Amino acid sequence: MKEDLSYIRENWEKVREKIEKVASRVGRDAKEIKVVAVAKGVSSSYIKEAFLAGIKIIGENRVQEAEKKIKELSNLPIEWHMVGHLQTNKAKKAVKLFSLIHSLDKFSLAYELNKEGEKLGRKIKVLIQFNTSGESSKFGFKEDEFFKNLDIIMNLKYIDILGLMTIGPLTTDKNLIRLAFKRLYKLREKLIEETKWELPYLSMGMSEDFPIAIEEGANLLRLGRIIFLKDFEVRI
Ligand SMILES: *Cc1c(COP(=O)(O)O)cnc(C)c1O
Repeated sequence: MKEDLSYIRENWEKVREKIEKVASRVGRDAKEIKVVAVAKGVSSSYIKEAFLAGIKIIGENRVQEAEKKIKELSNLPIEWHMVGHLQTNKAKKAVKLFSLIHSLDKFSLAYELNKEGEKLGRKIKVLIQFNTSGESSKFGFKEDEFFKNLDIIMNLKYIDILGLMTIGPLTTDKNLIRLAFKRLYKLREKLIEETKWELPYLSMGMSEDFPIAIEEGANLLRLGRIIFLKDFEVRI
């Protein structure tokens, strides 16, 4: 029997309403806030349902899993983003599958992406992932490590850096979460000052903490469970 997936549309409507409410509360235009629906572990039929409900960008965190679904859904004009940690040996595949990689988290990966971009004769669009929480389990550059070696990144001609990404700390303490997002916002300002890059995107906020991310300036939200799970409950 075919599963009833109409709840995905309802989830999406609720998410849109929440985004609009929070945005207007802090004087932002909700139209400037894009949602990446993170579909890891979710099969193609769910993604199709989300697309039909109006979601345009799908995020994945495994190259192999994404490859299969991108093939299955090749008839739909979905924009695919890589949001999870990318191993350097998967860079070659990733640049062909994704229009934006949110997770440039190591210099070795930057070299690899640059190399693949050069081969293809085009710039690879990326966001720089920072570890803003200090949690050792999280990927991402540490601030000082990154800025000390900024010239490495600046010399790579085949990567196009469009902004910054972070994953909020795993906690129910809203102040700690907010601090991490504020840190990313400030890192963007500092990086713009040093490089004159534009950096239009701030990718932060997931199912449980996206309202805080909106308040702190996010314009790419990465939402998984709140869209794809039935009866998802926010705990913070
Ligand atoms: C899974 C995942 C998300 C979405 O997480 P939810 O809490 O389910 O919204 C966002 N970003 C990354 C990098 C992820 O791996």
